[in-house]
Amino acid sequence: MSDFQIGTKCVQAGYTPGNGEPRQIPIIQSTTFKYDTSEDMGKLFDLEASGYFYTRLQNPTNDYVAAKIAALEGGTAGMLTSSGQAANFFALFNICEAGSHIVSSSSIYGGTFNLLSVTMAKMGIEVTFVSPDCTEEELNAAFKDNTRAVFGETIANPALTVLDIEKFAKAAHGHGVPLIVDNTFPTPVNCRPIEWGADIVTHSTTKYMDGHGAAVGGAIVDSGRFDWMAHRDKFPGLCTPDESYHGITYAEKFGKEGAFITKCTAQLMRDLGCIQAPQNAFILNLGLESLHVRMPKHVANGQAVAEFLQSRPEVVSVNYPGLPGNPYYEIAKKYMPNGGCGVVSFELKGGRAAAERFMKKLKLAAIETHVADARTCCLNPATSTHRQMNEEQLAAAGIPAGMIRMSCGLEDAEDLIADLEQALA
Ligand SMILES: *Cc1c(COP(=O)(O)O)cnc(C)c1O
Repeated sequence: MSDFQIGTKCVQAGYTPGNGEPRQIPIIQSTTFKYDTSEDMGKLFDLEASGYFYTRLQNPTNDYVAAKIAALEGGTAGMLTSSGQAANFFALFNICEAGSHIVSSSSIYGGTFNLLSVTMAKMGIEVTFVSPDCTEEELNAAFKDNTRAVFGETIANPALTVLDIEKFAKAAHGHGVPLIVDNTFPTPVNCRPIEWGADIVTHSTTKYMDGHGAAVGGAIVDSGRFDWMAHRDKFPGLCTPDESYHGITYAEKFGKEGAFITKCTAQLMRDLGCIQAPQNAFILNLGLESLHVRMPKHVANGQAVAEFLQSRPEVVSVNYPGLPGNPYYEIAKKYMPNGGCGVVSFELKGGRAAAERFMKKLKLAAIETHVADARTCCLNPATSTHRQMNEEQLAAAGIPAGMIRMSCGLEDAEDLIADLEQALA
């Protein structure tokens, strides 16, 4: 599949049925798998043979879909998780432990910010946040002896900042650690971070990959390029024997291409159990089959809505990397020449009250805590996700009270703009 274009991979990668087998990926709705001898099963437990024994660790439906996402990102191995949160936690916790340190872009999804700054802090994992716009010197200064990973989002949710992947990869590799990039917003149709130096890519498949607001899920893809053994002192979990797996050393047995995902499956999925339901993996695959058709439409609608809003006197400002004059316009063009995503944020004159009035009048765009759906939706952070904050706290967080985040769906742009126009009036 590696020779095919991205659209062909969206439709066909990951699953190739044999003679007389189902054309569509079968949903293997089974918790367990049957073996003729204990010896057969023992080989699986020892990771001596590949196969399935319990769906908490692996299921064929999930593996077909994970293989498709790995092919889309240009990685060597992939796995599905129950959510995007689980994907980011597993990707980091696979190489971090109590006493480790992470360098992260400060411009990331709120859930990931909490995961890093609160929950992982309780596990003894420390994080230093850096601005995505920091200089190379500032970025390098954030590293410590115990730094084990660098983290950022290609296009951040909801700030819509764009990560300079090459800058972050260079700093990470200079310090002997991998760069993990959450590529949820552009999807591999619009950006493939591995091509720019990222080592691990994560996804909330809940967003554009599913694309229909139907199934929560996540994915992790390994580029297979990071040389764990060259930095074995930093990554004992991958480079020294795992006593919980009969002394297997993942980086030796599975090489650069397979060590990260094998450990993540064999250890973290076994012990923490955030598996995606095979039924959800099937739904996710239906979304993936049209991802390359849907993304250009989300981008075109986002661009049209952003340009319309920018022309309106009721709007203070519009944040969309596809608008010339946006601080990320040039870097977005470099990493995402075909556009990024359909999420636009803008500030209305009149603050919270105006935003509430405006959103009540919208007929097509529903008020939802969601993005990246076929149906356009919107949210005023000041009255929803951030409603515990007062005006000063909102200003400090860079979230004006009148800010609205709009996720442009797959409707016709003319209708979306007409809806905005009547609501502004
Ligand atoms: C939504 C989101 C997540 C969390 O994903 P869930 O599937 O909701 O757990 C992580 N990162 C980004 C960029 C997101 O937009």
